[in-house]
Amino acid sequence: MAVADRERAVLEVVPTELLIGGEWRAASGGGTFAVEDPATQETLLEVADAQPADALAALDAASGAQESWAACAPRERGEILRRTHEALVARTDALALIMTLEMGKSLAESRGEIAYAAEFFRWFSEEAVRVHGRYMVNTTGAGRILTMRQPVGPCVFVTPWNFPTAMGARKIAPAVAAGCTIVVKPAQQTPLSMLVLARVMEEAGLPGGVLNVITTQRAGAVVAPLLSDPRTRKLSFTGSTEVGRALMRQAAERVLRVSMELGGNAPFIVFDDADLDAAVEGALLAKMRNVGEACTAANRFHVAQPIAGEFARRLTERMRALRVGRGTEPTTEVGPLIDAPQRAKVAELVDDARARGAALLLGGEALDGRGYFYAPTVLQSVPPGARMLSEEVFGPVAPIVSFSTEEEAVAAANRTEYGLVAYLYTRDLERALRVAERIESGMVGLNQGMVSNPAAPFGGVKQSGFGREGGFEGIDEYLQTKYVAVALG
Ligand code: NAP
Repeated sequence: MAVADRERAVLEVVPTELLIGGEWRAASGGGTFAVEDPATQETLLEVADAQPADALAALDAASGAQESWAACAPRERGEILRRTHEALVARTDALALIMTLEMGKSLAESRGEIAYAAEFFRWFSEEAVRVHGRYMVNTTGAGRILTMRQPVGPCVFVTPWNFPTAMGARKIAPAVAAGCTIVVKPAQQTPLSMLVLARVMEEAGLPGGVLNVITTQRAGAVVAPLLSDPRTRKLSFTGSTEVGRALMRQAAERVLRVSMELGGNAPFIVFDDADLDAAVEGALLAKMRNVGEACTAANRFHVAQPIAGEFARRLTERMRALRVGRGTEPTTEVGPLIDAPQRAKVAELVDDARARGAALLLGGEALDGRGYFYAPTVLQSVPPGARMLSEEVFGPVAPIVSFSTEEEAVAAANRTEYGLVAYLYTRDLERALRVAERIESGMVGLNQGMVSNPAAPFGGVKQSGFGREGGFEGIDEYLQTKYVAVALG
């Protein structure tokens, strides 16, 4: 099949309406909005533009399905998740193409994301049957303590555009496993991946009303009534710290339970005893995965002074060799950024660093033509006041600074309001553990440039948020503990 035909064919199977109570329906008022290909700036599809009334209809459905879904046998919930895993794996190529079309990343990366997302469904299919409480003798010997863990109830999920399937999967899979129902609002730039995931779950046997999908251009107006409605019992948000803060304020009105997966500003520290080849490979992965548009992206490179020049040289060579292009081209390694404002922000941060005296080793400019492309960029000797050292870059830009002592490296790494992940390269085990303990982050990559793993607890500290996704901890976000005091003897 010709490439354009293949693109048209996969888009034809994407639902474009809202999923409410097991039915696909138009938005009230019939409004739609366009989803754009960031590589060509052309419209891919029009999808339903939900109004606040549609969001409340979705919550009606989620709330109506909650009791029966919580009563559904854990094995049955697990089997639906397992079938979802199998379907995602079987349809990887089509789903990856849809993701690349709406988000821009290379097809190889989109395939990787589908595999990663699918693994959450497998992991939580296994966890669904392992929810348990305890029975214990009271410390006085009189009476018993019984605890049970129950689903928290209807959840509202708000997800970002950078990992359009995985960020939903990390919430939906554990919530479904725990027996919660859901209203999810994906990002307006990338609704297609969520819509098609919902279709896959429907085909895997998920009953109507358990997962409801609301696509909209009016995030604020559509999410607010969901948070103020007493039927909503949980908000899980992945996105920027700024929006997370605003949603926490709204959630506070009803003391709503929340999980927040927010922004990052990951330091990537290379000590002088590191395996330099491995560090450069890790740096490339931590920086360039997802075109740098990842909360886990290495935001700044702190390299021991004696090796900083050589590290910069080798990283520049590797970045120079990356092939930039439309993600659908099989040879592409770096796709476009998501939109014009994101590209403008990256350019602004690079210009700021250069104006303050940073040395440009590579790139430093937007690429001409259609699409929101920005050249892979390396900056050396970035001065302390440069904005890119404290703000999330979210683009293919690697700022390098050097340090003299371990103390200095740790202090620099922690000099941020964020605390999602840090990367650390050293061959000295004692130093590795010492520094890993002192770094203020929810996750540490030790001699590796990627930490994401469905079997591990993903999440941040400080203003990167709280709550964990994945691992044994992931399902806890969707369970609450009830204690029964038992009079006995
Ligand atoms: P964003 O602007 O915060 O948007 C995230 C989601 O929130 C989108 O669905 C957006 O809808 C919605 N939203 C925006 N304003 C809202 C409001 N007033 N009320 C309710 N919902 C609202 O973030 P983004 O630019 O899409 O994503 C990038 C950010 O996400 C980065 O900071 C990144 O670090 C973070 N992130 C964190 C993690 C993690 O696990 N910690 C993972 C991935 C990304 P619209 O699309 O309609 O604006």
